[in-house]
Amino acid sequence: MPGRHFLFVPGPTNVPDRVLRAMHRAQEDHRSSAFPELPRGLFADLKRIYGTVKGQTFIFPATGTAMWEASLVNSLSPGDRVLACRFGQFSHLFIDCAERLGLRVDVIDLEWGEAAPPDRIGQLLAGDTQHDIKAVLIVHNETATGVTSDIGAIRTAMDAAKHPALLYVDGVSSIASLDFRFDEWKVDFAIAGSQKGFMMPAGLGLLCVSEKGLAMADSAKCARVFFDLRDQAKQNALGSFPYTPALAHLFGLRAALDMLFEEGMDNVIARHHRLAEGVRRAVRAWGLAICAQDPKTYSGTVTAVLVPDGKNAAAVIDIAFRRYNLALGGGLGRLAGKVFRIGHVGDLNDLMLLGALSGVEMALNDAGIPVTLGSGVAAAQAWYQESAATLASR
Ligand SMILES: *Cc1c(COP(=O)(O)O)cnc(C)c1O
Repeated sequence: MPGRHFLFVPGPTNVPDRVLRAMHRAQEDHRSSAFPELPRGLFADLKRIYGTVKGQTFIFPATGTAMWEASLVNSLSPGDRVLACRFGQFSHLFIDCAERLGLRVDVIDLEWGEAAPPDRIGQLLAGDTQHDIKAVLIVHNETATGVTSDIGAIRTAMDAAKHPALLYVDGVSSIASLDFRFDEWKVDFAIAGSQKGFMMPAGLGLLCVSEKGLAMADSAKCARVFFDLRDQAKQNALGSFPYTPALAHLFGLRAALDMLFEEGMDNVIARHHRLAEGVRRAVRAWGLAICAQDPKTYSGTVTAVLVPDGKNAAAVIDIAFRRYNLALGGGLGRLAGKVFRIGHVGDLNDLMLLGALSGVEMALNDAGIPVTLGSGVAAAQAWYQESAATLASR
């Protein structure tokens, strides 16, 4: 199909031309004396994105899923007890990863559309007087449901329970796009990947680890080779890696970080929330509901839209793709067929979103879910126009 493909899945996201150009270059010797400058700058600048001074950042040729595994195997031993919340497909898979590594997971099962409950986490930890629970696993932004949990409140609950468990946060669809405060929230392991807020192709797993988290490496008995953070740390201190780094991706990450800093992280975060609000106003104008239950938890990076009972969200997605060159996210796991997801993360602006929303309207009608053409677009336009004027007058 001619023209631009409209990529509105919540990852992979649009890769800016500047990042593509930065990646399109000849290979070079990663053992040269000039090379360490690049990774050293990346490690330091990633800390700014994570909101940490004391944490240590790591870059793997991998994806977010691999960073779940890396965080767990470097700090825990088979049989260790961990506490996790399940409220969507990604939190489900994080738990599955922990179980398959031989950890015993106490699962708080919630409705898909709810957020992690700080009070229940606090109660369970307070009841664990032997400090048997070694870790708490939370997906910050559940990409399957469009729900953002309050990590600061979870940290407060953990502290109130005076429990020493380590805090593991999956920030794959929040870090570099939503507010993230590694030091303030006292996160021990924060997991990210390159293909969402970082505006890059998939291929890098990113990790930030606290001093307390790193100190677990010697006692942790889970087997690890490729993921051993001790090997990484030793080489990273010299500006190198224990194996051949993904060079093109490192150059891409340099360009992506430069772009994020030029816009300013506060502006990046505000832009995501502003774009998200326009999407939600459109959904409301269509008379449809979203999966996220509590407005305080509405995600700035993805909105999962429920289709009416008896309708198939997969048909909306396929029609959008085939007829209108628009890629929407599908319902994952138990939400398959029930929701379609509009990703609004990464390199995006108002008019791109309006184009996508107009495509969604046509696809909804085609799939037998009648909406008034232009109704959602108009609602989003009104919001973008009004809020753009506020931005301009500042
Ligand atoms: C995308 C995503 C993942 C999986 O990341 P991959 O890079 O595909 O392995 C994990 N968690 C969340 C919250 C995600 O959005």
